[in-house]
Amino acid sequence: MAKVYYDKDVNWDVLKDKKVAVIGYGSQGHAHALNLKESGVSVVVGLYEGSKSAAKAEADGLPVASVAQAVAAADVTMVLIPDEKQAAVYQTEIAPHLKPNSALAFAHGFNVHFKQIVPPENVDVFMVAPKGPGHLVRRTFVEGGGVPDVFAVEQDASGQCFDLALAYTRGIGGTRAGVLQTTFREETETDLFGEQAVLCGGICQLITNGFETLCEAGYQPEIAYFETFHEMKLIVDLMYEGGMAKMRHSISDTAEYGDYTAGKKVVTEDTKKAMKKVLADIQDGTFAKEWLLENNAGGRAHFLAMRRQHAEHPVEVVGAELRKMMPWLHNNDQKD
Ligand code: NAD
Ligand code: MG
Ligand code: MG
Ligand code: MG
Ligand code: MG
Ligand code: MG
Repeated sequence: MAKVYYDKDVNWDVLKDKKVAVIGYGSQGHAHALNLKESGVSVVVGLYEGSKSAAKAEADGLPVASVAQAVAAADVTMVLIPDEKQAAVYQTEIAPHLKPNSALAFAHGFNVHFKQIVPPENVDVFMVAPKGPGHLVRRTFVEGGGVPDVFAVEQDASGQCFDLALAYTRGIGGTRAGVLQTTFREETETDLFGEQAVLCGGICQLITNGFETLCEAGYQPEIAYFETFHEMKLIVDLMYEGGMAKMRHSISDTAEYGDYTAGKKVVTEDTKKAMKKVLADIQDGTFAKEWLLENNAGGRAHFLAMRRQHAEHPVEVVGAELRKMMPWLHNNDQKD
């Protein structure tokens, strides 16, 4: 089992008198900046000229500066802007101002692991990645708790980078819940695999295939939506709370029997082979190259076309209608 670190394992002295520049004030940025500040750390938020986030950060009581100024003043620079934008911002506004012997930090390993960002040898490089969205990182902290984090040391120039990364996790509340060590490689590859094969790609395609199977057999799309899509949340909530066993306890024995007998016929050994291919493409850089090309050379044309095409699928059209019957959802449908 992996070792879990808590508040008591932290050497807080390595962070308490340092200045942290949080670059970006979005989902993760606002949570890191506010939690660190309330933990007693000096924080400056770095944003580009004209960023809408600047007014928010100032209203939250945080000093805001340009990215260059924030980095120049910082002992730790935490990069929390979208992954696709990090390499360009790093080249132009971060790297020229990084102090020697300071630290450069990330919440996801993609850019460093795939060498889109190559930090100089005289800085520490670490990662602290909360295992939850920024708003949960903030809310749990305010309530006195925290979200578990993973952390990693990529480059230990100071000889203290491990302690620094661990102290940072305490600053955002992570060690209240418990944090685990990983590597940039492990975090990046497993994150990409999870979202592609299971959490996003896998589940959306499974739902779509199920919905299409029922519709093509002549069943009403509204009924197909309820049976293959809407109820997914109820099932996943039970698994999240108490494992597959709690879900299986809660469903009927008929459903449980069908779960054991049909699951393997649908998600087969071939599916697992396909998963291994997806993983191999992540590990050898094929996926990263494709996605970087899409962003840099392709102007995201193919990506945006796929977004449009998926939004127009009948499962989405019928779902939008049916969700109007569920006012407790506050009509959260994406409009653009
Ligand atoms: P986000 O899209 O919510 O926030 C982006 C922020 O960056 C905004 O404040 C935006 O104004 C700012 N920004 C955009 N371009 C900028 C520029 N050129 N210069 C300065 N600021 C700029 O981003 P996020 O989802 O918080 O993701 C940040 C990092 O955290 C990513 O590496 C991501 O992989 C990682 N992460 C996110 C989550 C999550 O729950 N969202 C969880 C774990 C890790
Ligand atoms: Mg992930
Ligand atoms: Mg991801
Ligand atoms: Mg049912
Ligand atoms: Mg049961
Ligand atoms: Mg049933």
